[in-house]
Amino acid sequence: MQGVGFRPFVFRLAQQHALAGTVRNTAGEVRIEVEGLPEEVERFLAELTAWAPPLARIERIEVTVMEPAGRSGFSIIESEDQPDRRQSVPADVAMCEACRAELHDPADRRYGYAFITCTDCGPRYTIIEAVPYDRERTTMRAFAQCPACLAEYRTPTSRRYHAETNACPACGPSLTFLSAPAGTPMARHDDALHRAADLLRQGGILALRGMGGFHLAVDAGDEAAVFRLRERKRREAKPFAVMIRDVDQARLLALVDEVEARLLESPERPVVLVARRDSGRVASAVAPGLDTLGLMLPSTPLHDLLLVLVDRPLVMTSGNLSDEPIAMGTEEAVRRLGSVADGFLVHDREILSRCDDSVLRSTPTGPLFLRRARGFAPLPIELPASSPVPLVAVGAELKNTFTLVHGSTAWVSPHLGDLDSLEALEHFRATLARYRALFRVEPAVAVRDLHPGYRSTAEAEALGCDQLIAVQHHHAHIAAVLAEHGRTGPVVGLAFDGTGYGDDGHIWGAEVLVADLAGYRRVGHLRYAPLPGGDLAARRPWRAALGYLASRPEAAGAFALAFRGIDETELAVAQRQIARRINAPLASSMGRLFDAAAAVLGVRWVSHYEGQAAMELEALAGRGCAREFPLHIEQTADGCWEIDPLPLLVALGERRLAGRHDVRELAADFHASIARAAVDVACRACEAAGIGTVALGGGVFQNARLLWSIHRRLEDRNIEVLLPRRLGPNDGAVSFGQAAVGAVLAERRSTCV
Ligand code: ZN
Ligand code: ZN
Ligand code: FE
Repeated sequence: MQGVGFRPFVFRLAQQHALAGTVRNTAGEVRIEVEGLPEEVERFLAELTAWAPPLARIERIEVTVMEPAGRSGFSIIESEDQPDRRQSVPADVAMCEACRAELHDPADRRYGYAFITCTDCGPRYTIIEAVPYDRERTTMRAFAQCPACLAEYRTPTSRRYHAETNACPACGPSLTFLSAPAGTPMARHDDALHRAADLLRQGGILALRGMGGFHLAVDAGDEAAVFRLRERKRREAKPFAVMIRDVDQARLLALVDEVEARLLESPERPVVLVARRDSGRVASAVAPGLDTLGLMLPSTPLHDLLLVLVDRPLVMTSGNLSDEPIAMGTEEAVRRLGSVADGFLVHDREILSRCDDSVLRSTPTGPLFLRRARGFAPLPIELPASSPVPLVAVGAELKNTFTLVHGSTAWVSPHLGDLDSLEALEHFRATLARYRALFRVEPAVAVRDLHPGYRSTAEAEALGCDQLIAVQHHHAHIAAVLAEHGRTGPVVGLAFDGTGYGDDGHIWGAEVLVADLAGYRRVGHLRYAPLPGGDLAARRPWRAALGYLASRPEAAGAFALAFRGIDETELAVAQRQIARRINAPLASSMGRLFDAAAAVLGVRWVSHYEGQAAMELEALAGRGCAREFPLHIEQTADGCWEIDPLPLLVALGERRLAGRHDVRELAADFHASIARAAVDVACRACEAAGIGTVALGGGVFQNARLLWSIHRRLEDRNIEVLLPRRLGPNDGAVSFGQAAVGAVLAERRSTCV
């Protein structure tokens, strides 16, 4: 891979061992020729892997003995383009420690310079136009290096030898502060930074241009300011991430263990979800109703400088309105965020590809992606099967990503967001066009979700590929987990999520599948219940409860809390929808079961963002121990295991109403009962199919308590468990699963013909 400082490293190493020769990049490979004393060549070879630069990943080394050519000196041969070869593009990397030290060293010529970088750090993916990677093919082309920078660039012993993003205050990008809403330039350079810091200290909202797009920042301790941001951004309750200077600061706000500290400090610098402390240092409006806080450390020198100046935790959230894509260009940001921000801190290093912050959480079973973007995309992931033709998989509808495949290499796009606006669709199209150009993949096959109404389905059809393959949503979830582990199956899959289109036309979402990459058999699911209002039900948890009640009206007593405060007319409409089966599709959704439980327990009737009720139930359950209530499990005529959760909902409702049990205990009981039923059915399916492995996928597994509980119970029964690791459990992984299925099916179809 280019842009990771590997060739300069090889150069220095060769010099240390007095070896002559050359190093060159050829698409995805580095070719090194050395000659010198045999023992020095041996050492060179050993140190090549041992001391490789932090960003380099060496997959394999092949050694061939050649005749000495009697060369003297060592040189780097410029990369030449081979149009038929593909090569990887590095992801963006947070500022390294060496650059940070220089940034804060008054004697350094880059002291306080917001765009300091070296071969070990800085933007890559977001500024690269084309491969091979060098300055001329990035947006750094606009800045000619000054003599001092050029000297570093040409000095093999310098950390900036061949650093394509090299810059300094004399020659590189610079800062400007703009007024809001007009976007008039008010200050430049250090003054701009100070204006921005003053604005934040006074409780103002700052739109800040970072590496992959704009953030909106505000003092995280200022309740009124955070409220104002929520109002203007039209984001009622969805939690905000908070940026702090270092891990010590993080520990003032949250309980951060060693694993989480390492995640926070990793070069990818993701947002890490951690257990929140009642410190009073963070406004309650930052993450209302939750026991977690999303924290991140500065990823760029600009963020670092700002944090030092403001000297307090800052809310750092995507620069957008509600769920639109983040703003990227300065003019675009002024247009879209002019009514949100009180000022803009911008720079002139253009961004070519949007990239959101990545989000991870640590669970007892290891780190879990909630969003894979900056720092990870566009690094490739290998598929266990090779596709005979180039293909593209377009993903689902919410939390969309796409995946591009050539051979067995898959490039998953960064998180693109929900495809429900024109901006989002344009973002999807633009990113796909960039990926096709960067990786030189012209797809002949398009893979899409089974759902006929998804916008991604229309996008797949519009691509005009020779072949279109549809993959069932939950099959894709399980295939994604299989494929990232290099497996092809068969496996028993537990796919628990909000909604996905089932092959019987109903809404699925709590599915037990026997699956391999080529296909699946549905062997278990939650009993169907009507979902009055369809998609609207995801935002109205009481509607899911009403759907369950429909099958046994005599349980109404236990559901007394579920409809408290709901408008009578709205309730009557929903009841009619169920009775007349109008806009009340049948669903077997685990997400909606969590909603129904939240309503029955009197926790939440209206959700402001996807999964809010489930996240609050998880927060209430905490780490408390729990009792298990039975769920009815029955085998239907076709041999499918059906789980009926109504007895569980009734038990929870009755206990809550009787007032003997705390809602926190009952939330924990709910989790334990679901885990037990899921494991029961999974084990029966394993036994019946003679399978010893279970894969877990689907957005419900963002719930760490449920994930851990099911994982532990399965392992107790000696069942191997595959968890989502390199991609998240949610719909962000669906395109990768589709790609894995598509690769296998395309292979079969091509051999059939
Ligand atoms: Zn650096
Ligand atoms: Zn310079
Ligand atoms: Fe899903």
